[in-house]
Amino acid sequence: LVRLRARLSRSQNTLGKGLLTLLSREHLDEETWEEVEDTLLTADVGVAPTQELVERLRERVRVLGTRTPEELRGLLRAELLELIGPDEDRSVHTEGGLDVPAVVMVVGVNGTGKTTTTGKLARVLVADGRSVVLGAADTFRAAASDQLQTWGERVGARTVRGPEAGDPASVAFDAVKEGIAEGADVVLIDTAGRLHTKTGLMDELGKVKRVVEKHGPVDEVLLVLDATTGQNGLVQARVFAEVVDITGIVLTKLDGTAKGGIVVAVQRELGVPVKLVGLGEGADDLAPFEPEAFVDALIG
Ligand code: GDP
Repeated sequence: LVRLRARLSRSQNTLGKGLLTLLSREHLDEETWEEVEDTLLTADVGVAPTQELVERLRERVRVLGTRTPEELRGLLRAELLELIGPDEDRSVHTEGGLDVPAVVMVVGVNGTGKTTTTGKLARVLVADGRSVVLGAADTFRAAASDQLQTWGERVGARTVRGPEAGDPASVAFDAVKEGIAEGADVVLIDTAGRLHTKTGLMDELGKVKRVVEKHGPVDEVLLVLDATTGQNGLVQARVFAEVVDITGIVLTKLDGTAKGGIVVAVQRELGVPVKLVGLGEGADDLAPFEPEAFVDALIG
């Protein structure tokens, strides 16, 4: 965790440092506030949250009068934390039922890190003493099932897979069936994320969910979003949110961008919390999203 935090700060703290430098100017004129806005927008915070934050900062700074660096840091920390939502429930629900495993669907556009995230999540759960079955329902991308199975072998989870280009819903159904038969705690279902036809995606993801629900409820639908794709990622996120009820966001590749403001933007966009963050390609590079640690990394 300490290592992850270090990596997070390395990639993120330009935003907070930039803001602190601007706010430390003796005279905060209109131009400076515009620079504050630009800094936030460049970090992908999004227009509406940026305006809100700047308005609140202006008011707080006005009330404060002269500012010590510590006061500024505290003020910025509090306002950023408020924007991110310190009190959201960010736990991934994997309790399941009496005789049915918890079911977690992992959805998102291809290339965002869906399969990797599914594998990393399996690892976290297995390390926690839970038994996991993986469902390779991304039958569209040829290598996805192999990739998931490799993760499964690595972490100690059985992978249920179907024929190439087979029916994703049937693989998902079989995976949960296998999970029930084995008395597994959690079934993680990796899904396909081709976006070019929205109706196709809608039919497919909706069908996967409905078919799985014949066994029992789906506990989580996690949307995987690549933090480096900025506003494009947000547009994609919206499409997914229209076709299936998202319960949490996994923001991947945060190690590869200083634009951590996307956390704020995507939560606003979807109205669901970021629950996990990906901070690298390795098996241990998935971490719970902790608003306080994140803001500390932003401010540096
Ligand atoms: P999928 O098509 O959505 O299933 O995407 P993959 O899981 O195959 O991931 C696509 C690429 O992104 C792979 O090279 C992964 O190693 C990489 N990747 C996934 N998550 C992260 C992350 O958090 N950080 C970095 N740097 N790379 C990641």
